[in-house]
Formats: sequence, structure tokens, C-alpha cells
Amino acid sequence: MVRSISILGSTGSIGRQTVAVAEHLGLQVRAISTNRSIKLAEEQARKLRPAMVAVTDESAAKELKTALADTDIKVWGGEHALVEAAVISDTDAVVTAVSGAVGLKPTLEAIKKKRRIALANKETLVCAGSIVMQRAADCGAEIVPVDSEHSAIFQCLTGRKGELRKVLLTGSGGPFRGWSREQTKDVTPEQAVRHPNWSMGAKISVDSATMMNKGLEFIEAMHLFGTTPDGIEVLIHPESIVHSMVELVDGTVIAQLGVPDMGLPIQYALTYPNRVASMSERLDFTKLGKGLNFYAPDFEKLPCLALAIQCARNGGTDAAVMNAANEVAVHLFLDHKIGYNDIYDSVAAAVQTVPRTENPDLDAILAADQEARAFVRAYFKQ
Ligand code: NDP
Ligand code: MG
Repeated sequence: MVRSISILGSTGSIGRQTVAVAEHLGLQVRAISTNRSIKLAEEQARKLRPAMVAVTDESAAKELKTALADTDIKVWGGEHALVEAAVISDTDAVVTAVSGAVGLKPTLEAIKKKRRIALANKETLVCAGSIVMQRAADCGAEIVPVDSEHSAIFQCLTGRKGELRKVLLTGSGGPFRGWSREQTKDVTPEQAVRHPNWSMGAKISVDSATMMNKGLEFIEAMHLFGTTPDGIEVLIHPESIVHSMVELVDGTVIAQLGVPDMGLPIQYALTYPNRVASMSERLDFTKLGKGLNFYAPDFEKLPCLALAIQCARNGGTDAAVMNAANEVAVHLFLDHKIGYNDIYDSVAAAVQTVPRTENPDLDAILAADQEARAFVRAYFKQ
């Protein structure tokens, strides 16, 4: 049973919900972290009394240190602070709720310490899934997914080793479902972050609009559940009630259903293999309106999803390149520096241009990640 946790990215959407779950479950929070949201981090620190707060931005760290000077809470600044938060002593689980590939190093260090990884940060697996899963197996560290689809698949597969035939990965289709490239060309960041069913951080909201999120999840699922690209089928399910399904060898399909609420998968990642009462709303089948609908994705209108599946098939460093290029492009879009359709164009160009390394080690992955970031910045002369 998990009794104490560290939360990487406690000031974000998943991080704040993790704080609520930790309070509900009565868990001790040993460390929290932020990039630069120090006002909220201070509030969280005063309430949760962790041993440390990691603040990546150095000047924000200095400010928080002064603000918390009347407490015995340590404030660590800089990139390495995230690793310190991940490996802090007397901690059973680390919730990785930072956004982007910055989650990779702290996750690998927490694995070395045999911590349970409650993994929200999908970019870590997209970037270096084979290495992360292998190291977790070698060290005996559990990785329990927080991403709602993967939590659903994990729950459906618990106790069913060797019975999986196909993962049925569901996705709502986002706010621009069915829109053509012509129709999406003037989409603004404000429109893109407004998701119909989920309230999330800015980066994943844009990924959900482009459906790159489903592509990242496709690769995440391959690593978590040891499948090939042919072992995963994406289904558009606009209601987000079925969080994903598995088809077993005999044709039986098992689904996990619930209201769209990340509190549930966060809690399950911390209580697994047990279940306890949650704060989540209950599903009322009599109020489902038009019922539950499922469609095949139109890959022509979802080029980011098609690109991600192609990268999954290509293997090597392609997924890491796509992930890094997408991170840079999405941030430029959020800063109003590029258009919506430029995201796909630049990411596809990065995948085509950055040379693929087969069977990469960690250094080769990190180098490909850097090269992809530089490529996209140069592509937009940024
Ligand atoms: P947010 O943007 O809301 O929060 C991200 C957190 O990470 C914040 O605490 C932020 O600090 C911190 N952070 C961002 N960049 C850095 C950096 N370079 N160094 C250190 N810390 C950093 O994201 P979400 O909570 O929405 O998502 C977090 C992860 O969970 C992502 O990988 C996402 O894909 C995944 N996920 C999210 C879901 C959701 O419902 N939100 C659902 C499923 C998966 P600061 O506050 O200072 O910006
Ligand atoms: Mg998801």
C-alpha cells in the first residue's frame, strides 16, 4: 500500500488533482515540484508540509525560498531539483505529472530507487519507452498508468496475462472532430485549448485538438502493454465514457467505464491493486442521452495521428523526434508565433529530416530529441 508520495508537477492540472486525491487518501506528500508557479507551490507546501519543493526556474526558486523561510521546508532550484524530488527518501510512489520529455530523467532515477511510478507524463514513454520499461523490469519498479485510457486498459488486463489480442484505444476526437485542413487553418490557441469533455493543461489540450495526443497514447500503450502497432486499434468515442477496452484471445471485449474525471485513474494508480471509495461522480446510465457511439478515425483529417502511428511502425528514434518536435511546435503555437496547421507540417518535416537511429541507447535518444527541437526552431526561424 502506498503511504507516501512525491508529486512532480504538483501545480499543473494532474498535479492539483493528485493533491486532492492524496488528501482524500490521507497520504503523506514528501515532495512537490513546479516550473515557476510559486504562489500555488507555496500554498501547497504550507498545506501539505512536504520535506522539499523543487522549482526548476532558478529565480522563482530563490523567491520561494524567501517566502518559505519561516518553515523547515527545503526549496531546491534548477533542473536537477526535479530529480531530487523524484528520489527523496521514505517515498513509496512518484506521480510524474510534469508536461513534456523533461519527465524522463527523474522517472529513470525514481525507477532506480524502486519507487512505484504513477505515470501521467506520457512523453517519457514516447521518447524512451523501451529503455524505461526495461529498466523498470530490471529494478522491479512498478509502472502504473494514470492516463485515463491506459489506466482503463491496465484495469481490464489485471489478472489476464497472455490473454490480450487487441487494445481498443478510445478518444473523443477533440474540439475539431471532422474538420478539414482548410477549416482548421485559422484555429487560435484559445479555441484549441477548449476541450469538450476534459479540462487539462495547455500542451495536452492542443495535442488533444490535433489528435497528436491519441498518437502519443498509441505509442505509450505499445510500451506499457508490450504490443505491436497492429495490436492497437483507435476508436473515436465522442462521449468519453468508455475509457478504453481490450479484446481478448477468445473474442471477449472488456471495457472500463466511468465519468470523465482524472481523479479516478490517479487514485487507482496509488491504491492498486486495491480499490477504495473515491470522490468521483457516479455514472448514471439513464442519463447518457444519445448513448455511446464509436467510429473509425478519418486518418486524412487527422494527420498527426497518422504520423504518430507511422513513427511507431518506423521504430528507432522516430517517436522521440516526433515528440520533441511537437513539444516545440505546440509551445510556438500557444505563443501565437505559428498557425495551427504549422504544427503538423513542422513535426512531419522533422521526422523526415532528422536521421533515424535504430535500437538507440539513452544518449542517442536525447541527441535525437535535441536535434528535433533545433530543427523546428530553425524551421520557423525562432
Ligand atoms: P500542466 O501544464 O497543467 O502542468 C504541468 C506541470 O509540470 C506544472 O506543474 C508545471 O509547472 C510543470 N512543468 C512544466 N514544464 C516544466 C519544466 N520544463 N520543468 C519542470 N516542471 C515543468 O499539464 P497537465 O497536468 O495537463 O499534464 C501533465 C502530464 O500528464 C502531461 O504529460 C500530460 O500529457 C499528462 N496527462 C494529463 C492529463 C490531464 O487531464 N491534464 C490526462 C492524461 C495525461 P508550472 O505550473 O510552473 O507551469
Ligand atoms: Mg488520455
